[in-house]
Amino acid sequence: MVIRPMIRSNICMNAHPVGLAREVRKQIEYVKQRGRIPGPRRALVIGGSAGYGLASRIVAAWGCGAATVNVAYEKPASGSRTATVGWYNTEFLEDQARSEGFDVATIYGDAFSDEIKDETVALLRKSGAVDLVVYSLAAPIRTDPKSGETYRSVLKPVGEPFTARTIDTMTGEFRTVSAEPATEEEIEATVKVMGGEDWQLWIDRLLEENLLLPGAKSVAYSYIGPELVKRVYREGSIGKAKEHLEATAKELSRSMAALDGAAYVSVNKAVVTRASSVIPVVPLYGVILFRVMKEMGLHEGTIEQAYRLFADRLYAGDSVPVDEEGRIRIDDWEMRGDVQQRVRELFETVDDSNLRELTDIDEYHREFLRIHGFGVEGVDYDADVTP
Ligand code: NAD
Repeated sequence: MVIRPMIRSNICMNAHPVGLAREVRKQIEYVKQRGRIPGPRRALVIGGSAGYGLASRIVAAWGCGAATVNVAYEKPASGSRTATVGWYNTEFLEDQARSEGFDVATIYGDAFSDEIKDETVALLRKSGAVDLVVYSLAAPIRTDPKSGETYRSVLKPVGEPFTARTIDTMTGEFRTVSAEPATEEEIEATVKVMGGEDWQLWIDRLLEENLLLPGAKSVAYSYIGPELVKRVYREGSIGKAKEHLEATAKELSRSMAALDGAAYVSVNKAVVTRASSVIPVVPLYGVILFRVMKEMGLHEGTIEQAYRLFADRLYAGDSVPVDEEGRIRIDDWEMRGDVQQRVRELFETVDDSNLRELTDIDEYHREFLRIHGFGVEGVDYDADVTP
């Protein structure tokens, strides 16, 4: 069948297998070109099918030569429905990896559940313990395996209502978005879903099962961002979850100390992923940031970030460089004074008359399509494909 993008409320509902195969190959080629770096021998990537997790997996394999196990919530095609983005990414990555002699495996299912943890443990008992655990889930919902209760995360401010101007990156229209503050219950639910509780369950379980090698590291991803997006991100409900994730890293480092291991939160740059496209206000900041960072020769996507994270932070030497809060900062270029100064200036002046001149809106939108396999150079989108 011919597959065209189906977009509803800024969410792309389908995916193009040929386009995604090319996009994964591009990331692999980038890493091959940058060359081998020290790193893990065996990595478990939780959420390794898209965005930051996918890029981390590619760096672990092609950059460091590691065997990789991925856990992701993805679905194959059925009938006329395409598979999910992460399913195509994973299947293509693994075909390619096997043809180059890498050891790869994926467990598809809900990483928050006990069943999927059991399955992963069973697999690792056979294939071997790991020395890196990347925790890169971005999920809207989690069922607590102990209580059976289901929690939904929200992207809302905390305390006061919030109103700001943003842009619809699909249409290029400016919009005003308002949000009422999250209730206590909603904040708690967001922390349950996106905080560190599940990361801790994973590490505790792997420790219990002796599946972490001496010197093992674990890393989970966070975001801070500037003043412009603070109310809705860092000071919002998601920020509370990220604070919890950061506190969890410290606790995990204590429990991993016996095997000379450590856990980190890495604060990453704002990029276009399926998760980030649903965060309010961030799109207007994003389209300006991308323009500014490109002009300054500093622009990065997930693969450039993941490579720099492994090469210059996690495996740079005897100690991992961190900020005063103990976090890895790979958002250093995004947060540079000159970058943020320029972003603020443009944020004040951008309107309908100069949108395309001052921002990267068209390319941002194309990037959104590309992460779903659409608009990829060299792909014949009129051709019949088997989903
Ligand atoms: P993404 O949507 O591209 O990927 C999310 C991954 O989580 C996918 O592999 C998906 O299969 C997996 N997943 C979701 N629910 C799952 C479940 N129940 N069980 C198993 N797997 C599940 O997201 P992303 O943007 O790469 O986000 C990953 C992390 O990076 C998040 O913690 C996010 O906050 C952080 N981060 C993102 C940005 C950004 O700009 N996108 C910036 C900094 C930090």
